[in-house]
Amino acid sequence: MKTPHMSAEEERHFILSEGGTPVEVKCDVCGATHYQGKGYYPLRKVSGYEMFCCEICYEGNWDGWNRRYEEKILAYLKAKGIKPPKRNDNGWLPRDF
Ligand SMILES: [Zn+2]
Repeated sequence: MKTPHMSAEEERHFILSEGGTPVEVKCDVCGATHYQGKGYYPLRKVSGYEMFCCEICYEGNWDGWNRRYEEKILAYLKAKGIKPPKRNDNGWLPRDF
């Protein structure tokens, strides 16, 4: 059964058990490896940033991106030619924009 926080290995087995081909994908924020396939997409597209991140990163940074990810996210935006969003009241990059 598919659950929200399966490990990468569990995801791979889940997709195989469904008769699909697991494809390795990486979270653009934390870099964790996930597997997708057969209608199972563990990464979500983050609005505004055009990046894909895992549920753990997305849910854990609801009030803005943690500073330890900032450098990576800003470099990602620069590479995509996207202007960084205005910071929120915490001084952090908003999760979505
Ligand atoms: Zn992540």
